[in-house]
Amino acid sequence: MIERIPQRIDHFRYTDQGVILDGVLAQKESAKDLLRFKEAILENSSDIIYHLEFDVDFLGNRHVTGKVSTQVILQCQRCMNNFELELNCDVSTAFVQNETEQKLAEDSDYDIFWLAKREYLDPRVLIEDELLLALPQIAMHALSEVGKSCKAEVVFLEADSEQDNYLKKDNRLDEDNSSSEQVDDNPFAILKQLKSKK
Ligand SMILES: [Zn+2]
Repeated sequence: MIERIPQRIDHFRYTDQGVILDGVLAQKESAKDLLRFKEAILENSSDIIYHLEFDVDFLGNRHVTGKVSTQVILQCQRCMNNFELELNCDVSTAFVQNETEQKLAEDSDYDIFWLAKREYLDPRVLIEDELLLALPQIAMHALSEVGKSCKAEVVFLEADSEQDNYLKKDNRLDEDNSSSEQVDDNPFAILKQLKSKK
C-alpha cells in the first residue's frame, strides 16, 4: 500500500522520533505539485521514488538522509533530440533556522534546508530541491553517444578541457574559430607580450 506523502510536517517531531518516509509520488501528482521541476524538464517519465530518514545526529543537527530517484526526458542541447535521464539523488540535508545551526550543518557537510521559525516542512519541496540539483546544467547526451544516439552533425565544444581540445585538434570540428585557438595553443604568448612591455 502506498501512503500519500504528508504535506506539512513538524521537523522537530520527525527528527526526534526518527520517522522514515518511504513512498512514491505518482507522475500525475508530481506534475501537479512540483511545478519548478516540471518547468525544468520536458517530462517526468516515471514516478518519483523516495526514502527519507529523519534523525538528530550527535552534534545536534536535525537532518534527513536517504534517496530520491526518478526518470526524466530532457532535450539534448547538442542535437536537439530528446533523451531519457535517470536521476538518483543521495539526500543528506540539515534543517536550519538560524546562522548557528547553519554553520554547524555546513561544518558537518550537510546540504542546508532553511525553515522559518514555526514553519512546517513540506517534504515535496525537499524532494523537488534534490531533483533540481541533480539535473545537469546543460542537458546533453553523453559525449560517448555523439554519432550514435546523439545525432549532432556539427559538434561545438568549448576549448576548456583537455578532452575537448583533443577532439578539436583531431577532428577539426571547429575550424572557423582559429583566432581563439591560436591563443589556446600558446598560453605563454600573452605572458611574453606583457613581459616585453616592461
Ligand atoms: Zn544529443
